[in-house]
Amino acid sequence: MNEDQKRRVADAPPAYRGIIRRAYDPRAVSWTNAIRAFCLQCTGYVRKDIRDCTAPACPLWAYRPYQTDDEPEEGPELVAGPAATGLPAPQNASGEVPS
Ligand code: SF4
Repeated sequence: MNEDQKRRVADAPPAYRGIIRRAYDPRAVSWTNAIRAFCLQCTGYVRKDIRDCTAPACPLWAYRPYQTDDEPEEGPELVAGPAATGLPAPQNASGEVPS
């Protein structure tokens, strides 16, 4: 994790630090968690603003988390891998796909 990433983890509210940390960890990242982290950062960590997001032109809009009130804070880990999304597998900085 580089210094900018460490700062983003430290700046996140405690309840969301695990999500942000996993988004930067090539051994733990999933598309689900990466999108969750991005939307949280986009809204300043306001779940309601993600659910009520008014930017349907955003490429992540259909995949944004917290569309229902019953989604847990942390959410399931590694539930939507490449097979579920049709997207290529996440890669680390060396272009390797984490196992
Ligand atoms: S879907 Fe909405 S909350 Fe998520 S990144 Fe796009 S604009 Fe931001």
